[in-house]
Amino acid sequence: MFEINRNYLKLPGNYLFSTIAKKVAEYQEANKEKEIIRLGIGDVTRPLAPAILEAMHKAVDEMGCAETFRGYAPEQGYQFLRTVIAKNDYQDRGCRIEADEIFISDGAKCDSGNIQEIFAKNNKIAVCDPVYPVYVDTNVMAGRTGKFDQKTGKFDDVIYMPCTRENHFVPELPKETPDIIYLCFPNNPTGEVITKEELQRWVDYANKVGAVIIYDAAYEAYITQEHIPHSIYECEGARTCAIELRSFSKNAGFTGVRLGFTVVPKEINRDGVSLHSLWFRRQGTKYNGTPYIVQRAGEAVYSEKGKAQLREQIGYYQENAKMIYKGLKDTGYTVYGGVNSPYVWMKTPGTKTSWEFFDTLLHEANVVGTPGSGFGPCGEGYFRLTAFGTHENTKKAIERIKNM
Ligand code: PLP
Repeated sequence: MFEINRNYLKLPGNYLFSTIAKKVAEYQEANKEKEIIRLGIGDVTRPLAPAILEAMHKAVDEMGCAETFRGYAPEQGYQFLRTVIAKNDYQDRGCRIEADEIFISDGAKCDSGNIQEIFAKNNKIAVCDPVYPVYVDTNVMAGRTGKFDQKTGKFDDVIYMPCTRENHFVPELPKETPDIIYLCFPNNPTGEVITKEELQRWVDYANKVGAVIIYDAAYEAYITQEHIPHSIYECEGARTCAIELRSFSKNAGFTGVRLGFTVVPKEINRDGVSLHSLWFRRQGTKYNGTPYIVQRAGEAVYSEKGKAQLREQIGYYQENAKMIYKGLKDTGYTVYGGVNSPYVWMKTPGTKTSWEFFDTLLHEANVVGTPGSGFGPCGEGYFRLTAFGTHENTKKAIERIKNM
C-alpha cells in the first residue's frame, strides 16, 4: 500500500494567490461594471524585445534544418550562453565566476525549490521574514521544517529572521546557527536592498560557521543605486559559501519563455565533496535541459541591441515603481522599496491587517494588491504593490487610492 508524502499537507502558504483570485472574482461578479486594476501578481506585461524575438526566429529556423538542428541540450546549458553570462553578469563586475560554474535552467523558481535536494535532511534553514514563500515551502515538502504552528504562523524547525522597519528590512545575524541561509535582495516582497558591507557580514558569518548562503538575485536588474551589490560574489570569500540564483523573468520578460541560472562555485565543499559536483549530478539526472531556442533568446539579452532595448523595458517598470512610491507617499502612506526593485511595500493604515486593507483597496479603489501576511508573519500590517502594470493603469490606480 502506498503512502503519501504527508509533508505536503503542512503547506499553508499556497492559499495566498488563490484566495486573492477568489475574492477578486466574487467582487467582479457582483460589480460587473467596475474596472479592476491588478497590481498584485509579480508577472510582467511588456512584450518580448525585438532583439530577443529576432534571435528566437533564427533559432527556430535552425531547428528546421538538418545541418543546424539540435536535440537534447547539454545538461549545464550551452557554452555560448554560459560564456556571455559569466562575462557580463560577473567578470565585467569584477567577480571571479567562470562559465562552467553556471547552470542554465528554466527559471529561479525551480532552482530555488530544487537546490535543497543536495543537502541533508537534518540541515536547519534560516529565512528572511517576510520573503518569497518558495524557500520555506520546498523545505516543508522535503520534511525539513518540523510542525506548523497555527498561532505564530511559523514552522518549529525554521529560523525566521525578522525584516522590519527597525532593521531597514535587512535581517540581523541569527542567534541560533543555521546550516542553509536563504537571502533575497532586492527583496520580494519588501523591495528593499542590502549594502555591500552588510552582505559581507553575512558572507563572513557563513564562512565562519560553515553555512551555505543561497542568494536570490532575481531582481538585480532593478538596482539603481551605485553602492548596492548586484551579486553576492562582489563580496570577498563568497566563492566558498554562496550559491546565487538568477532569472530572466523580470529583466527580460521571460516569465512565459522560462530561463534562469544558478551559480555554484567550485570551491564550496563538505568532506571533500563539492556542491558543484552534486548539483551537476542532480541536474544531469532530473533536468532535461532548457530548449535551444530559449537559450539563444537568453544570449540575445546580452547583445548590444538587447541590452539597450531591455534597459528601456526595465526603465518602464521603474517609472511605474516611482509613480506608486511617490503617489502613496504624497497621500500620506508610509512606503518602502520601489527604488531598487519593482515592488513597493507599504504600511497598512491605522490598525488594518493586510487582508482588511486588501478588501478596502478592492472595494473602494478597485485595485488589487498583495497582503503582506502572505509572505511571512512579519509581513502582517504591510501590503505589496507591483510595478509590472502599464503606465496608464498604474497612474489610474494611484489616482483612485488618493481619492479613497
Ligand atoms: N525569486 C524571486 C525572489 C521571485 O520573486 C520570483 C518570482 O516572482 C522568482 C524567483 C521566480 O523566478 P522565475 O520566473 O525565474 O522562476
